[in-house]
Amino acid sequence: MRSSWRVEGTDGCSIFGLGWDRVPCQALGPPALCPPPSAHVTMAVGPRKPRMNKNTPTVTVKSAYHALDAAGFPKSFVSRLLPDWWDNALFKTSSGAIEFASILKQRLGVDVRFAENGELEVLATDGRARYKKRATTQNRELQACSTLGVALGKLALFCMPVVKPNLPKDPAQAVGQVRALSKSNAITFASLLDFCWSQGVPVLFLKDLPRGSKRIAGMALQTERRPVIVLGFQSSQNARQLFILAHELAHICLGHVEKNEALIDECIDAITDSIEGETSGPSDDEERQADVFALALLRNGADNLPLGKGRFFSPAELAAEAVRMGQRLQVDPGHIILTYARDYNDWLMANQALGYFPDQSNAVALIKQRFISNCNVNNLSDDNRNYLLSMQGF
Ligand SMILES: [Zn+2]
Repeated sequence: MRSSWRVEGTDGCSIFGLGWDRVPCQALGPPALCPPPSAHVTMAVGPRKPRMNKNTPTVTVKSAYHALDAAGFPKSFVSRLLPDWWDNALFKTSSGAIEFASILKQRLGVDVRFAENGELEVLATDGRARYKKRATTQNRELQACSTLGVALGKLALFCMPVVKPNLPKDPAQAVGQVRALSKSNAITFASLLDFCWSQGVPVLFLKDLPRGSKRIAGMALQTERRPVIVLGFQSSQNARQLFILAHELAHICLGHVEKNEALIDECIDAITDSIEGETSGPSDDEERQADVFALALLRNGADNLPLGKGRFFSPAELAAEAVRMGQRLQVDPGHIILTYARDYNDWLMANQALGYFPDQSNAVALIKQRFISNCNVNNLSDDNRNYLLSMQGF
């Protein structure tokens, strides 16, 4: 008799430890194409025959959701991401419980095991997560973002061709590469998105989160040596998302993210110190390096923008100067305005000035447009396609 059974595996559907093995769903098609339990194909491996353990315990619905809630995934959230065909009555069967575990792995990125008494236990993730966070934030408060980002990244990568990225450590070289793809000399949010996707780096938007989970500004991760960027900052302001994207890309270009590792930047204060003016600046070497890379990328190699004229007296004046300076220095006007906001701690003026640019507030629409253009979601089942889209708010 086995004392427990465990569901794991990076493809989300490999089942081990049951005395029988099932054809991994990837062998049947995309990893997200898992049909209901009744439709699963089983296959004997080696001399063993497909069979279920007669002593398999019954999993109680209450204990399963309680364990998930304790891990940061409340029942209301888990219920939303379960496919339409899921019925909690399936917990009464071993195959149903296993299927539940497969769904958790695919959609939440968490591994679980079932103890002898039928209790569901949430295991530590295989991958490593490193958090760049406020001192008052606990790692567990960001864990849901981290595992969800990894799970979404895996689904997105499945829908993309494998591309060997050519990501430079030198921001000046990155400027040249982005420009080569773009009609614009300035590095804009749209042109940097296009560059990321062209390098096989999907840029995803994390909209839906469990209640009580803290939001992140962004994260950079590698899964199976393929990089992914997830933006979590809830803003349509292009200039803000541009800086976060440049910062996350910098982490990848500079080799800060190792294989099967996720680097999570919690908040705008920490991640945009260099823009938003925390006087002390980021204390972490990697954060400093990522900021320096991002600013050099966005400022066409310049260390500083020559904003020496002093305060502007109206948003219109600031917007006009941002256009002039942007054309002269080949820098995105939105970034110039945010730099002014930081230097003079005048965010009200900056936000009003950004209002003069109709193309500076469509960041989420651009993320969606690039995602749809580059990610062939038809590779996924209806359930998982809807999941990948809805978690991004698309
Ligand atoms: Zn960072």
